[in-house]
Amino acid sequence: MAFEITKAEGCLLYDTNGKEYIDLIGGISVANVGHRHPKVIGAIQKQLEAYLHVMVYGEFVESPQVQYAKLITDHLPATLNSVYFTNSGAEAVEGAMKLAKRTTNRTQIIAFNNSYHGSTQGALSVMGDEYWRNAFRPLLPDVLHLEYNSFDSLLSITEQTACVIAEPVQAEAGIIVPYKEWMQALRKRCTETGTLLILDEIQTGFGRTGKLWGFEHFNIVPDILLLGKALGGGMPLGAFIADKKLMDAFTENPVLGHITTFGGHPVCCAAGMAAVKALLDEKMIEDVQQKEELFRSLLVHPGIRTIRSFGLWLAVEFDSFETNKKVIDACLVNGVMTDWFLFSPQCLRISPPLIIDKEEIRKVCKMILKVI
Ligand code: PLP
Repeated sequence: MAFEITKAEGCLLYDTNGKEYIDLIGGISVANVGHRHPKVIGAIQKQLEAYLHVMVYGEFVESPQVQYAKLITDHLPATLNSVYFTNSGAEAVEGAMKLAKRTTNRTQIIAFNNSYHGSTQGALSVMGDEYWRNAFRPLLPDVLHLEYNSFDSLLSITEQTACVIAEPVQAEAGIIVPYKEWMQALRKRCTETGTLLILDEIQTGFGRTGKLWGFEHFNIVPDILLLGKALGGGMPLGAFIADKKLMDAFTENPVLGHITTFGGHPVCCAAGMAAVKALLDEKMIEDVQQKEELFRSLLVHPGIRTIRSFGLWLAVEFDSFETNKKVIDACLVNGVMTDWFLFSPQCLRISPPLIIDKEEIRKVCKMILKVI
């Protein structure tokens, strides 16, 4: 994009000319509490005074890791009680798939078409799009891709399957919301076959969908939960979370079943914990649905084919990528930062910081309609 940023604050970005942009993508669902939230900056500064990296993850007790794991698990169902922090979302995917193979003694991994789980070799193996995978073969063996939201496809999950990895709502496919009954049937099929259900909440977590976690909409609980993006409050951090009974498999045969030097970096954990506290204390999730409805009520135009949304997360569909790209470019000229989706390039991405106010929503919608 050759777009140079000099400052980011709240919902706003500034370029080298001091021009202001309303940020409708928030670093791709990272800046849920806004850019440079004062509590996040304060927590980072405090941690900088204490220590940075001191030891490979897990060797020493580092209180930002412990306290942040406690805060997260306090807001999760009882079986999601053990947190392994990583450097990124993709590394959380890798750790979770290893844990599933290790604890089930099975090798098959099932994923869904049009899913995105990251770009490392394991995560790439489960990515649901052959165009993106093909140049990097051979990838992980024994990976099967099924159709998302199809009841028939669930029959392919068997006693041979170590885990199924799914997004509660498919992000890069352009916000594909599955039937609640399908998610529940997926959970049931995994339980029946002894397969671990891994839910990738790297984009759906931390209030994006109008609830703290996406899985809450479906009344199910995964065996392993993946977090990233907003987890670090703007700093790089990922996590996979499971029952300690499962996680303990990493402590023997081999001992240190997953190792990371920088995973759970104390500054990232301090930042993330401050961000989640701000998210909860300042009740940022409460009006997500109202704001979603406001976007939907304002974005009405014959050039828009359809809008799919789930919380403060909208895919505005045009007839082609070419049209979408023209809209995105014109938005930028007019001070609105947007983007498209990896597997749905004809859709405009709207996933702003959750703190975007109604005035800003009116302003950006007016601008989007004008450029269309
Ligand atoms: N899973 C989902 C749903 C994502 O959207 C992403 C990143 O966009 C990832 C996994 C990978 O995370 P990271 O880029 O931190 O490796």
